[in-house]
Amino acid sequence: MTREYSGIRESRTHTATVTDWGGESCRGAGNFRANCIGQADRTFSQGLQCQQINSINALLSLADSAFIVHAPIGCTGCCSGANDVYRVGQMHRGNYAVKNARILATNLDERDIILGGEQKLRKAISLASERYNPKAIFIFTSCASGIIGDDIEAIVADAQKSAAPLLVPVHCEGFKSKVCASGYDAAFLAIGKYILKDAPKGDTIPDLLNLFAPPSVSYLDQLEIERMLGEIGIRINYIPFYSSFEKLRTIPRAAASTAICKVFADEFMVDLKEEYGIPFSHTIMPIGTRNTDKWYLGVAELFGKTAEAKAYIARQREQFAPLVQDIYNRLHGKRVFICGGTGRSFAAAALVSDFGMKLVGLETPTFDNDALIDFDYLNGVHGSYEVDVANMQPFEQVNLLQKLKPDVFVGVPSWAAKLGFPTTHVLDMKRPTLGYRNLVYLGNKMASQLENPGYNKRLSAHARLPYRDSWYESDPFKFIKQY
Ligand code: SF4
Repeated sequence: MTREYSGIRESRTHTATVTDWGGESCRGAGNFRANCIGQADRTFSQGLQCQQINSINALLSLADSAFIVHAPIGCTGCCSGANDVYRVGQMHRGNYAVKNARILATNLDERDIILGGEQKLRKAISLASERYNPKAIFIFTSCASGIIGDDIEAIVADAQKSAAPLLVPVHCEGFKSKVCASGYDAAFLAIGKYILKDAPKGDTIPDLLNLFAPPSVSYLDQLEIERMLGEIGIRINYIPFYSSFEKLRTIPRAAASTAICKVFADEFMVDLKEEYGIPFSHTIMPIGTRNTDKWYLGVAELFGKTAEAKAYIARQREQFAPLVQDIYNRLHGKRVFICGGTGRSFAAAALVSDFGMKLVGLETPTFDNDALIDFDYLNGVHGSYEVDVANMQPFEQVNLLQKLKPDVFVGVPSWAAKLGFPTTHVLDMKRPTLGYRNLVYLGNKMASQLENPGYNKRLSAHARLPYRDSWYESDPFKFIKQY
């Protein structure tokens, strides 16, 4: 492989990566294109999603693997959320003997910070092997293990001599990147380096597609994508979501690759093309008819099935048009604020065009060349709207919501619900959002929330947010300082 990618999104040379910006979308697109959005930071920050949790999230549903978090116990706290997703996913798949993920934490403490965490890591490896007999053990690093300089590669190389499972270090120290999607890249770099390096290439399976999916994809979404691609004779190798060690080893044999989310495995698919010659499609998340058409045609083209795909799209549009029209009648003209991951925010924002809604605000964790394509499209449809490029800064979100007063909030709803806005979740694997069928589900959900706002209204009457009135009157982006 000639390409050298560190896994840190800010290090990419083909695009700038913006993590701290706020303002009007048209100005943002213009400034980004003119290279005028420079390095910035927040002088006050309410928290930052760490890349370690995205590495853990990406891999945790591999049922035949075990996981070691080489970190102080606090870093392991987010595993409870990832485990919840894994447990619900099992239930949705009809597996009612629900299991927890096989996670061990090395619980680095003050003594280890001085003397090193090697012994604890060795002990955790041998405990995980004995207790679970897994095919692979993924070892997630942390800020603490990185700062004290534990030589994970050397420890793993030595421990591997006596360990039966394959040991796979994932270098996801939180301090390395402000872009949480870097955590996905760290997971895929580890898969490439440790799991695929000795995998036999074997013959290409002509109808097999590597479909890279994050854990936020629901089971109904999985079924919908299988249904859609099955119609044109494409089989799916889901990676790494509810997958297995053997399925990971099949990656090099697929005829093509694509991803559900635009910032998931996008860099890995470039590596796969370079290393194994596997072509890939990188378009947009299939939320809403326009995006689903685009995503579907991108995949079909890789298999030479464009004509069949166009015919299928026409049938689907005809079938679902009356249902979409019904939702349009209930939602058109409503003003919407959208907040999700980078891929999902932009895709969901395009979805609101199906229902004639007006985008007034969008929150996304990052912004780069790839997002600019979607930005331009949305600016064309909705004109200018407020954008907050923020990784977990709810104080900015509540300020914007109080100023913009949208009719509907779509995304991660905790704060908007407490302000009394009707909310619909789109970043939650418990509910479907993808493809033609689930567009109808999502639209009905939005309309139903709008028509039945009582719960959030009552919640707002009793919930106290920690902000003074003076904050709501302030510039929401006053803590963003550009250098
Ligand atoms: S790895 Fe670092 S950033 Fe991530 S949770 Fe631990 S201390 Fe925080």
